[in-house]
Formats: sequence, C-alpha cells, structure tokens
Amino acid sequence: MALKIDVDTYQGLKLGVPRLVRMLEREGAAASFFVSMGPDNSGKAIRRVFRNRGFAGKMFRTNAVSMYGLRTVLSGTILPARPIALGLPEVVREVARAGFEVGVHGYDHVRWQDRIDDLGEAGIRAELEDAFEVYKAIFHEPAKSFAAPGWRTNQIALKLLDAMGLGYHSDTRGRFPFRCAIDGVTLATLEIPTTLPTLDEVMGRADLPDAAAILSFYLDQFKADALNVHTIHAETEGMSQLESFTALVRALKERGAGFVRLDQVAARLKVPELPICSVICDYLPGRAGWISAQGAEVLTPCGSGRESPR
Ligand SMILES: [Zn+2]
Repeated sequence: MALKIDVDTYQGLKLGVPRLVRMLEREGAAASFFVSMGPDNSGKAIRRVFRNRGFAGKMFRTNAVSMYGLRTVLSGTILPARPIALGLPEVVREVARAGFEVGVHGYDHVRWQDRIDDLGEAGIRAELEDAFEVYKAIFHEPAKSFAAPGWRTNQIALKLLDAMGLGYHSDTRGRFPFRCAIDGVTLATLEIPTTLPTLDEVMGRADLPDAAAILSFYLDQFKADALNVHTIHAETEGMSQLESFTALVRALKERGAGFVRLDQVAARLKVPELPICSVICDYLPGRAGWISAQGAEVLTPCGSGRESPR
C-alpha cells in the first residue's frame, strides 16, 4: 500500500499533517505527503456551488464547513488567502525529518484544478515554477516528485513536468504505474496513478452507511498481489476522519500489508519496461467534474516508437 497524502489547505497542514505523522510513526507506516506550495484559496471552491450541482451535493454530503472549518471555507474569498507550505515551513520540514517523502502538490491548488485548461503554457509553467521554487526555499534542494491538484493534468503540464527530470509524478487515477503517451511520444517520467477511490467519493453512498461499512469496503478493494495507491487528505483523514483512517491502517497491517513511500515504489520499478498508456479525461462516481485517468495501453509498431529526449 502506497499512501499518498494530499495537503490542500493551511488548516490541513497545520493540524492534520502533524496528527497523521504521529499516527503513522506509531503504526510504523511509511507515506508520501504532497503539499500545496502557494496560497490557500480553498474558499474560492465555493464558487463552484453556483456552477456545479455535483459539487454542491458533495459539500452537503460531506458537510464541508464542519470538516474543513469556516476559516478554510472562506479562505481566499472574504478572508485573505494564507500561504500553505511557506506559511508553515517548519511543519513541512518536520514531515521529511520524520522519514516521510515530501513532494509538490501544485502552487495554487484551486487555480490549477479549476483553470488548468485555460492557463496555457505560460500559466502552467508559472504554477510549476512558483511551486518548485517554494519547495527549494524550504528544503534547499529541488523537489523530485509532483502530484497534480485534483488529479487534473493535460498535455502541456505533462510535457513541462517531463522536462524537469522528476523521479515520478502521480497525476492520474488508474490501475498500475505506466509511461504517458502524448502525441505519439512516450514521456520519460514515470506516472504512479491513484488506484483506490478516495474517502470523499465513497462517503454518503447509500450502501456504505457507516464507518464499519466503509472500512470493509476498503479492505475489499485492497489487492494483495498488486500495488495499491490510496490518496487521503490531511484535511479529512488527518482531522475528522483520523480515527476511521487509523482503523484502516491497523486492519491492513493485520492482513499483512506493507506501507511504502511512492518514491520507494518508483525506485523499484524498471521504467523502460513499463506499459505505455494514453492519459484521458474521465469521470468517477462520487466526484464532481473531470479527472485525468490512465487510458488504454498504446502499442507502437517496431521502429516507430519515439522516446522523448532527456
Ligand atoms: Zn489536492
């Protein structure tokens, strides 16, 4: 089980991350944290309520105000946006000191998630440069991994990331690690997709009425003979759902599951031998709006496969 922990908000970094670090240390479980480097504009996500019925339903089902706190829900709207990683650099460093991986989860999470296809190459490049600059300011060394906010990426973002020579990225939802095919070119950077549904996608399902039902759902989803990548959120599993998430970690340990960092997964894989797949736009039950997903495997005839120069 590779645990990918997304940190989308100031509140999540300040309160959720230290709790998750303590719990995972206690349980002896490794994990990778992906922190949004720029301003906490999560309140702007409320604007989606007026545009997107699915999002309104999700806000209602998951009770966003009690889950995220009013300060977060209003952040970047009537209250100023607080810087996330740069506002709490000691918390970010502490995660790495405790032995966890820290990667980049974009700069402005809301801007990336809502507007990636409007930003253009200059806009996406600016988001990436700002995010990686903040990481470097905190750690005095370049980041080696990236996870796209909201699992949204496109050809421009994937090409820009490929030129950065990262160890891997985790931008999509999918089945197994792969190499991305863009315009007939195979990118060099490994993609490790999230393979399991997220908690906010399954909460509120009529057939999963309580924490016990959700726990057994996840245990059923877990594949003992494959890599499982589970994305959790510091704002959710690190706060109101910490108890349920701790129960899941313990139940997985009892079943013999081991926990690995995503960079450890990447180090073990022979990237040139991995399948080449397209990256497609898809929709998931319980999630409003599109996400990027692992598409079908791309088969290239001998002699026509072009590797991106790196
Ligand atoms: Zn996120």
